[in-house]
Parts: sequence; structure tokens; C-alpha cells
Amino acid sequence: MHQQIVCPLCQKAELDFSRINEGINRAATLAEKASHARELIQKVESVLKEHENVESSLAEACRAVLNLRKKAAEIVLKLEKVKR
Ligand SMILES: [Zn+2]
Repeated sequence: MHQQIVCPLCQKAELDFSRINEGINRAATLAEKASHARELIQKVESVLKEHENVESSLAEACRAVLNLRKKAAEIVLKLEKVKR
């Protein structure tokens, strides 16, 4: 059976991430999407910081997921730049 991530920090952040992602998906314009994307990147940075004291094998998996989120947000920002 697939095991869910049990990191409490990520679990706590999950609500914010899904709220921000919803904002990105619902935004009507790229500028609006980009502002949510910037919020997402800030959130990722702060959650990454919270992981500094987490046991390393768990934090490693968390960082991989968080970095993917960040990359996705950066792509949104890149799209906005291209448009200008
Ligand atoms: Zn975590």
C-alpha cells in the first residue's frame, strides 16, 4: 500500500499550498497567476526553513517535494515574463 507522507510540517503547510494552487488555477490573467506563484514560492521558502531541524531522511523527501512545487511556480513566473 502507498504510504502517505507523515511529516507534520508538510501536513500543516498542505492546506496553504492547496489554497494557493487553487488561486493559480482560478486566476483569469497571467499577472494574477504570477502573484499567486510568488506567494507559493515564499511559502515554500518558509516551509523549507522550518525543515532545518527535521530528521534528515524525512526532510530529504520533503525538500524534493517542496522544490518541485517551487519549480512549478517558477514556470508560471517565466510565462508571465514572456508575455510582457
Ligand atoms: Zn516535511
